[in-house]
Amino acid sequence: MFSYRHAFHAGNHADALKHLTLLACTRHLMQKPAPLQLIDTHAGAGIYRLHGADAAKSDEAARGIARLQALAGEQRLPAALQAYLDAVASFNAKAGAWRTYPGSPLLLFSLMDSVPRRAVHDRLHLFELHPSDAPLLAAHVAQLRAGRRVRVQCSDGFAALKRLLPPPAAAGDSRRALVLIDPSYEIKSDYARVQGAIGDALRRFASGVYLIWHPIIARREAHELPRRLRTLANQAQRGWLHALLHTGAAASSAPGGGLAGSGMFVINPPHTLADALREALPPMLGALAQEAARAHWRVECSMG
Ligand code: SAM
Repeated sequence: MFSYRHAFHAGNHADALKHLTLLACTRHLMQKPAPLQLIDTHAGAGIYRLHGADAAKSDEAARGIARLQALAGEQRLPAALQAYLDAVASFNAKAGAWRTYPGSPLLLFSLMDSVPRRAVHDRLHLFELHPSDAPLLAAHVAQLRAGRRVRVQCSDGFAALKRLLPPPAAAGDSRRALVLIDPSYEIKSDYARVQGAIGDALRRFASGVYLIWHPIIARREAHELPRRLRTLANQAQRGWLHALLHTGAAASSAPGGGLAGSGMFVINPPHTLADALREALPPMLGALAQEAARAHWRVECSMG
């Protein structure tokens, strides 16, 4: 069951789309000085070495974040892309090729731990089931000295959502949560579990911001998932956004047999997200495309 290790894929094009979207949503929510519950149901190991044996084997970061690093010095990048590159740069030395890639847990913590946010009492809940990655994640989090602000559990992230939603009320009765659901989909049932978890989460807490990553692969369940998520959001009368980034590589010839494209489905997206992604994805795809003629991006949302 646990053949997937994110260390082989960290910093690839799918991480770039996912983490750029995650940072844009979280930064927007953090403009309001009210506590936020951040829930990462499939957290991975937390942080990755880009030149370690695992990364070198797949070479995905070389065609991903390494290419994006070349954009980092450019003037006037779109704000969301700049914020993503700044976030990755902050985990690396100023000079030379980036050697470290932060996963979703460390990216989220870096926002929670920024000076204006520290006083706000955000909480980060991390779930990871892999018998090797869960202890790695716990060790990385221990180094943050985050105390009760971050909780790591080696348990099922889908099941955890039932316990955590709705989030506790803060002062003024405001309840705020952002949930990232980022399975590896190595087991086919993950598609149905994502759908079930979102249906249940919307019944428990309809105003949460839900981000779901999905692969673009030739599998019926993968093809249908965004449509099913859209139906759930529409039934709950909630706004949604769907962003796609495809490198243009033919599915079977994607380098290393890897993924050619992926998507992010966001329920209750910040009103600024569609424009931010429409600005950021073209230069990002310019750097990440494998076959320029077939590479494409798309942002659709319920508000047009
Ligand atoms: N979210 C991470 C990031 O962006 O840095 C990457 C996560 S990786 C794509 C998916 C992770 O989910 C893997 O580390 C896998 O071991 C873990 N996993 C698989 N099934 C799980 C489950 N039911 N609950 C929690 N973690 C699970």
